[in-house]
Amino acid sequence: MIKPTKPIIFCDFDGTITDNDNIIAIMKRFAPPEWETLKDDILSQRISVQEGVGAMFSLLPSSWKEDITDFILQNARIRDGFREFVTFTKERGIPLYIVSGGIDFFVYPLLEGLVEKERIFCNGSDFSGETIRITWPHSCDDECQNGCGCCKPSIMRKLAKSGSFRIVIGDSITDLAVAKLADHVIARDFLLQKCQELHIPHTPFATFFDVIRVLEAMEVKA
Ligand SMILES: [Mg+2]
Ligand SMILES: [Zn+2]
Repeated sequence: MIKPTKPIIFCDFDGTITDNDNIIAIMKRFAPPEWETLKDDILSQRISVQEGVGAMFSLLPSSWKEDITDFILQNARIRDGFREFVTFTKERGIPLYIVSGGIDFFVYPLLEGLVEKERIFCNGSDFSGETIRITWPHSCDDECQNGCGCCKPSIMRKLAKSGSFRIVIGDSITDLAVAKLADHVIARDFLLQKCQELHIPHTPFATFFDVIRVLEAMEVKA
């Protein structure tokens, strides 16, 4: 087998780098019950992720910023082996980008000291109004009509040079569109099921030590 060259990694955040989904955790703890309807509407694709997430956060007063941030920093857990995985990619010279539908006010602090800000793509937030407003610095390009919010396929199109070997690491429905464009997917949970169903080339993972082993076995060369 020809060894893949010029690898580039796009790694999801919620439920991939962290054990759980942080937006769900915030809503469960802080939002009035309407958030559940919005979540169901997103899952059944009645509304886009962008619409749904925007509406969910608009249920929360901006003045709760500190409480919400403290809650996430205390409760989120980074998956085992992530630090070692980041070191591994650096040693091998493999570009690593974090592509996240999460929000800057919890994604950046949780990745502090692990991944540089320039390598993180996520949604923004504005606490200047009565309620929290989500901003969308990485919304869909002309080739995507999904209303992703943070559009992972658009980011991949922008960053992956032609001929590079595109690796996606993820866990959920929000990674599926970009997984379909990848050369190899490292997946858990729902995304793993989908990769199996759709015959997308993939390997399962539970921790980032598994991810390191997958990359070592593939002998990806930068
Ligand atoms: Mg996820
Ligand atoms: Zn999109």
